Amino acid sequence: MSGEHPREQPVARVEVDTSRCVSSGQCAVTAPLVFDQDEAGQVVVLAAEPGARAAELARQAAAMCPASAIRVHPAR
Ligand code: SF4
Repeated sequence: MSGEHPREQPVARVEVDTSRCVSSGQCAVTAPLVFDQDEAGQVVVLAAEPGARAAELARQAAAMCPASAIRVHPAR
């Protein structure tokens, strides 16, 4: 054992349509490890291939997004 944390297995692929994003910020609040916002408030994806826990939060964020700008697909 190296003592390092093993890299978490990606379980999802996160895509956003920034042309739809209305900068409401729910995604960054709901899943802060997956989403951030730029200085204009537009969504920025921090983790496009999240592990299980982050992917679940990303799905919640997708469901809450008022612009339906977030898609969470199964990992390839
Ligand atoms: S919740 Fe949707 S509309 Fe709001 S910042 Fe995130 S992607 Fe944009």
